[in-house]
Amino acid sequence: MYIQEISIDIKTKVDKDELIDEFGLLMSFYRGSGQTQGKIESQYIENDKIVCLPFTLEKTSLDKKFNNYYVNRQAKKVEELCNSRLIFKTVGKSYDSYKAPCNCKKSDFYILITNYITIQSPLTCGTCNKSVPLYRLPQYYDYGYMPILSWETNYISCDSLQMNCEVGERWALNQMQEITSQLSKQGLEICRKIEELTSIPTYYYLHNYKKFKGDQLTRLCPSCGKKWDLKTQLHNLYDFKCDKCKIVSTISPNS
Ligand SMILES: [Zn+2]
Ligand SMILES: [Zn+2]
Repeated sequence: MYIQEISIDIKTKVDKDELIDEFGLLMSFYRGSGQTQGKIESQYIENDKIVCLPFTLEKTSLDKKFNNYYVNRQAKKVEELCNSRLIFKTVGKSYDSYKAPCNCKKSDFYILITNYITIQSPLTCGTCNKSVPLYRLPQYYDYGYMPILSWETNYISCDSLQMNCEVGERWALNQMQEITSQLSKQGLEICRKIEELTSIPTYYYLHNYKKFKGDQLTRLCPSCGKKWDLKTQLHNLYDFKCDKCKIVSTISPNS
């Protein structure tokens, strides 16, 4: 993950609170366009300069060519309020389990997957198992990717509940592991749309913490009821893959 610095000198008498709001909006548009990762970046104002330090998947994620309509419009507004230009600088790379994003010419398939702790893209490449920056996809909805990020937030909320154990654990776990849950439905719909936009098969990762007596690999696909165990584990992670229903899953650690 890269840490970028976006800053601007304030050369007008603009109200600082108003500017912070407008700058915050710019940052949320960067997120919606898939250019920044995670939701909260350090942001501060020092003397007459506003500075923000977002994470990005690639060094070039903030290139203008990835900007969408909203990013461009808001960047212009902030520049006008400050009467100066936004300045972009790469501060460095985070050392924490840094993995470069997918660089495949063409992925064989994608997987929609996230968890409570990651700020990687919710889309991974089935060929190399690395993160796929959302801005590489055709625009999903309203110039950006908000519906995908909304599923991501919902999933992370459920995963946080089941990790914390005390509130809604069972409910959240079922949202994550039942193919018919609202969360899975939302995710599967996104997979179908990504597939339609990219012509790349897109699989949904179904969490599995179910109890099962006997050989887990004899479990059947929860959607079509057919065999779906993989002969060899995929990416040291996935044990199940149904090519008809486009779902992947893992052996349950709970048995
Ligand atoms: Zn790849
Ligand atoms: Zn199936």
